[in-house]
Amino acid sequence: MRRWEVVVVGAGPAGIAAACRAAESGARVLVLDDNPSAGGQIWRNDAAQPWLERFAESGAELRTGCVATDTLPEARSYVLATGARELFVPFPGWTLPGVFGLGGMQALVKSGLDVAGKRVVVAGSGPLLLAVASLLRKRGAAVSAVVEQADRTRMAGFGARLLLEPGKLAQGAGLMMSLLGVPFYTGSWVESVTGRGSVERVRMRCGGRVVEQDCDALAVGYGLTPNTELAALLGCHLTQGAVVVDEWQETSVDSVYAAGEVTGIGGVEKSRVEGEIAGLAAAGLQGLAQQLFAERARTHAFADGLARAFEPRAELRKLAQAETLVCRCEDVTRGALAGMKSWREAKLQTRCGMGPCQGRVCGGATRFLFGWGADSMRPPVFPVKVESLIETRQS
Ligand SMILES: Cc1cc2nc3c(=O)[nH]c(=O)nc-3n(C[C@H](O)[C@H](O)[C@H](O)COP(=O)(O)OP(=O)(O)OC[C@H]3O[C@@H](n4cnc5c(N)ncnc54)[C@H](O)[C@@H]3O)c2cc1C
Repeated sequence: MRRWEVVVVGAGPAGIAAACRAAESGARVLVLDDNPSAGGQIWRNDAAQPWLERFAESGAELRTGCVATDTLPEARSYVLATGARELFVPFPGWTLPGVFGLGGMQALVKSGLDVAGKRVVVAGSGPLLLAVASLLRKRGAAVSAVVEQADRTRMAGFGARLLLEPGKLAQGAGLMMSLLGVPFYTGSWVESVTGRGSVERVRMRCGGRVVEQDCDALAVGYGLTPNTELAALLGCHLTQGAVVVDEWQETSVDSVYAAGEVTGIGGVEKSRVEGEIAGLAAAGLQGLAQQLFAERARTHAFADGLARAFEPRAELRKLAQAETLVCRCEDVTRGALAGMKSWREAKLQTRCGMGPCQGRVCGGATRFLFGWGADSMRPPVFPVKVESLIETRQS
């Protein structure tokens, strides 16, 4: 008898929901996550408590600090719930100390980074902008400006869509209220940053004019991009940078399911409901899974609105100059990538994406800048501890 019936990779909302539904049906479930504890990017607060408690009581076994590669423990089915990471768009000065990813800044502040009295510009696109600006202000930072690349019309369209989601509307209104008095620029973006040793000044394109602002830090991010490496390694079909799934959340590979941000960016509710469907389907409970289809459709409609409203504009592709770094691990500039036709050619000729992050930062950037995608994936994909490899093999 196999030790595990369902192996779930990722213990964020999607993975936890999948594991709960599968384990509660009596299946033997193993959950692997590379973080020290369960919760993923967002389920670390009180709101997540009911799901974390349910998970603890479900009978699923959790292994943390464990990077899953293609050497997964043997099981009848797998659920990939590997989430997403930030999309960075290179611009002159983006590698200066003091320039943070939006999510990175959020995580650092939540874990104690002192920002009191610091002048911070918050820029990029999407709902995370307001969440991070609000958090910074609560922790005593002087938020100098919030700079959203989406224009007013798109923002208004998204606002109208929120009327169908009273909870999210109230959340958005609360964040806006917490930022009263902070200049909020729409249809605007950071063109470059300068400073001696660390960021001192931000140059922004706001409508038709240039605005310059002194600051101590810049938090910038242009949305999220799915973590598809493991799915690609297992041979799952991808489209537009996300894993393709059918109505049961099953990928193009038999008995391999995917759920959450890895199938497309859409927020925590989409991740949770997709996770539930995947967990039920992986455990053979299609009838119960089907009952959640309508709820999933609502979250997909919200995700579509999100993607339309905050799609990064074409002008952002022109920010990086010939001397601007694109791959910061291997010091590869945009100029060095000129004339390259593919990610493979860029890797072979310049070592772009061959450093410690293995393309987790510049891979998203080059997909956005040049439309490249990874055409092959080699294990172990990420730097991984040998004990992680041994542990997953022996399970
Ligand atoms: C940086 C960042 C900040 C965010 N901030 C907010 C916010 O403030 N508010 C909000 O509403 N939403 C926020 N989101 C979005 C929110 O996190 C997602 O909607 C939600 O967490 C998605 O759930 P998920 O289960 O799909 O993925 P995640 O929550 O990302 O969980 C995926 C888990 O899989 C693990 N994992 C990935 N690959 C492997 C592997 N190979 N082996 C083992 N483990 C692996 C990851 O470490 C992670 O724990 C943020 C997202 C990011 C990336």
